[in-house]
Amino acid sequence: SQRLAGKTALITAAAQGIGRAIAEGFVAEGATVIATDIATQQLTTLQGCRTERLDVTNADEIRRVVAAAGDIDVLVNCVGYVASGAILDSSEEEWALSLDLNVTSMFRMIRAVLPGMIQRKGGSIVNLASVAGSIKGVPNRCVYGTTKAAVIGMTKAVAADYVGHSIRCNAICPGTVDTPSLEQRMRASGNYEATRAAFIERQPLKRLGQPAEIAALAIYLASDESAFTTGQCHIIDGGWTN
Ligand code: NAD
Repeated sequence: SQRLAGKTALITAAAQGIGRAIAEGFVAEGATVIATDIATQQLTTLQGCRTERLDVTNADEIRRVVAAAGDIDVLVNCVGYVASGAILDSSEEEWALSLDLNVTSMFRMIRAVLPGMIQRKGGSIVNLASVAGSIKGVPNRCVYGTTKAAVIGMTKAVAADYVGHSIRCNAICPGTVDTPSLEQRMRASGNYEATRAAFIERQPLKRLGQPAEIAALAIYLASDESAFTTGQCHIIDGGWTN
């Protein structure tokens, strides 16, 4: 099937994990994909994409990459960094870094891409949020959850403001997904096996999500099949928040 034929998609944080699976899924569905990340070495192993270095904290770089991309039908904001800890464990530095990387980055990307979408009277923006935040209070994810709640707020605001231009904006809210950064967090816990088992145990489906499963939802939200949904949080969490 070629559910994204004729569409051009720009994806941030596409070098690994969920972003990479989305890039691969979009290519398989016939999209022209501009896969971006700061990990340029890892980007080179992606098949069938255009790849660009893009640091989402750098407004000049964003302007340059978006201008060079040409018409963009789909923007997937995938970048996100997990700061661990309760509020008393969190520093102002982590707070500022997390807001910049997880929220302001999406603000910058959306502002860069929207004028073109308005001109062409359509587009789909997909933001990676999380169930952690405004859907569920998760222990030791205070700063992270705050940023993901903000992503949902921005998603809804953009959806409300640009619906008249046929531009849709949705959030994907995953539960726990098996990605390199999750692996890293499990190793950093000091007890890999116990941490992994605990992550699995809290999922009613008794397994972690796979990046390709998140990509399947992103394909739907990027495609015209989802033309009637905007401003929503699409939860995909193995039943965790049910
Ligand atoms: P990851 O953490 O494994 O990869 C993150 C990528 O972001 C890396 O390729 C890294 O190089 C890139 N990156 C870091 N800083 C960057 C910058 N300044 N500019 C551009 N790229 C940069 O990713 P993941 O775990 O697949 O998570 C992807 C998204 O999904 C994130 O927004 C995350 O918060 C969200 N999410 C993940 C999970 C999960 O369990 N993995 C759950 C819920 C939500």
